[in-house]
Amino acid sequence: MLHKNIIYKSYNIQIYKPMIDPSTIERIIDTAEIADVIQDFITLKKRGVNHIGLCPFHNEKTPSFTVSPAKGIYKCFGCGKGGNVVNFVMEHENISWPEALKFLARKYGIEIAEREVTDEEKEKQGERESMLLLTGFARKFYTDTLVNNEEGLAVGLTYLKERGYRKNLIDKFELGYSPSTWDSLTQHAVKNGYKPDVLEKTGLTIRKGEKLFDRFNGRIIFPIHSLSGKVLAFGARTLKQDKNTAKYLNSPESEIYHKSRVLYGLYFAKRAIVQSDKCYLVEGYTDVLSLHQAGIENVVASSGTALTNDQIRLIKRFTNNITVFYDSDQAGINASMRGIDLILAEGMNVKILTLPEGEDPDSFSKKGNLESFRDYISNNELDFVLFKTRLLSEESKSDPVIKSRMISDVVGSIAKIPDRITRMVYIKECSVILQIEEKILYTETDEIRKKIAEKNLKSEYTQRVSLSENSPKLSVANSAAKTNSRSERENHEREIIRLLLNHGEKYLYNQDDDKSITVTGFIINELERDELDLSNPVYNSIINECKKLIASNIIPTEKNFSNHADIEISHTAADLLSSSYDISKIWKRKENYIETEEDKLIQLVPSTILAYKSFLVREELKDTEKKLKVAGNDESLLLQQRYMMLKNTNIQLAKQLGNRTVF
Ligand code: ATP
Ligand code: MN
Repeated sequence: MLHKNIIYKSYNIQIYKPMIDPSTIERIIDTAEIADVIQDFITLKKRGVNHIGLCPFHNEKTPSFTVSPAKGIYKCFGCGKGGNVVNFVMEHENISWPEALKFLARKYGIEIAEREVTDEEKEKQGERESMLLLTGFARKFYTDTLVNNEEGLAVGLTYLKERGYRKNLIDKFELGYSPSTWDSLTQHAVKNGYKPDVLEKTGLTIRKGEKLFDRFNGRIIFPIHSLSGKVLAFGARTLKQDKNTAKYLNSPESEIYHKSRVLYGLYFAKRAIVQSDKCYLVEGYTDVLSLHQAGIENVVASSGTALTNDQIRLIKRFTNNITVFYDSDQAGINASMRGIDLILAEGMNVKILTLPEGEDPDSFSKKGNLESFRDYISNNELDFVLFKTRLLSEESKSDPVIKSRMISDVVGSIAKIPDRITRMVYIKECSVILQIEEKILYTETDEIRKKIAEKNLKSEYTQRVSLSENSPKLSVANSAAKTNSRSERENHEREIIRLLLNHGEKYLYNQDDDKSITVTGFIINELERDELDLSNPVYNSIINECKKLIASNIIPTEKNFSNHADIEISHTAADLLSSSYDISKIWKRKENYIETEEDKLIQLVPSTILAYKSFLVREELKDTEKKLKVAGNDESLLLQQRYMMLKNTNIQLAKQLGNRTVF
């Protein structure tokens, strides 16, 4: 076994990043059809001349993401994100302008005239991009090893063939093999100009002192692809039987790989998921492969992690229907149980496919023929009520304690369903199966929902809404905003003032709790925390007026403003107090009463503030980007730091906005 020290400092590191000439850029932009491109990432429905869908940039239950093919733009009315087709790819894939153009060029088969880049341009190459270049390079190394290298052929390919995987499947999923040496990949990559620190960041290489080792050796490699087909990470299966060797190793979390937000196989499954309007969810890499080979392509696995909300939302981009298809062992059943509730809570439909004992989808697909396997799949799905009741019914029929436990288990799942009508359907079914009056089930469900609501309310309130301690102050906020964005900024501010005027003295959370705070108090705190002034002078006066009143122990109410001596303030107050903003969006029928805006304040007020802050951060990001382009050397370092900080804040804010689900 070869085993060499790599003294990487002596290597002359060169990565060639092609630049694109202007006429090609034009061609790419002209050719790329925005709806077609976006459809690779979410499902769009035609509405008039536009397309609409669920926004991929924030979590929402009703679509406010709009694509206009005529104008070539997209816009989300929920989170404010928008732009042209290149912007979408940049934003979604978190890549630079040239990388996004290359992505589109590949999609449309446009050849790019490349030229060598200068050292300065190389430096600018982002960390993410270097990592993705490397994972792509490593993927190729592993597949090459599988089909060209002696060990790869004798050990790797033989194993895959023995498991019954055909060549076209192996090619499609880009399966590979990592040689059983210590550092083949690392050496090969460094020789080709990849930096050791990038190798470490992707987790492909592990450093021990001065030495660099490959993470994977002697393993079958399963590349994990992003929605756009880029390789983000790898799963790796050992071929040893040894109990002390972990069967699977995965790439660690990194800048490019967040395992809770990736589903194995989704890139290859999304088309089939849309077509069949259903997604099979399995546990392992090999289950995905076997189902594909059986001709069932709408299948994904949450490999290397228990199912997460983010993963469910990824599926929701393409369908509302998930069938859980896990191993038949106890671990598989437990995982299914957990999955069911998570899926239901996302407002999706869930079914469960169970297998005979000791089987997983992979092993079972190899019993009998493909035909019988496909038949089994289409004939054995159960809805979750049937699944849960069947699972426990044998012992429980005679045992009242077990029976009541099962009832609360089933009812617990039903209570997770956001839609009332759907809940009704399942309660009816449950009542028939378990021979229990519907009324009792309704009471039980409501009870659980009330508890969940209370819990959500609490965590909603305690969750900090502001930027984190070390995040940057928003300098753009207090400088004159550019004219083109003034109106958007004012819209945000108007909404904040509208909430303050209409609901200012109402309490967020519990009146009796010492944590409670008025809407006005909350808004003022949030603005002060980031030293934000509103750009509209009248709105700003209203805020200052509130501060004055509070300082003299008066809780401001609408009368303080509608009757204000300053005519501009009283006019604005009258205007905002009478405007019933976007009622359709906020007021929905729920249970047997009409939900009012007041019921929603606990979500509405924090998310309105968050949206405003998020907007300001994005504005300053744009501003900084522009400044960076013309900055001198000494200035540019500071600007870059600020840019990174803002970028980070932006991500945090987007996350917080995304987490703020409406119950
Ligand atoms: P095979 O058929 O190759 O034995 P499997 O998919 O049936 O693989 P399981 O043991 O059922 O393997 O595990 C299911 C999934 O859980 C795997 O595909 C893998 O993603 C993950 N997994 C299993 N064992 C490990 C491990 N030791 N470390 C990390 N992840 C693991
Ligand atoms: Mn298996």
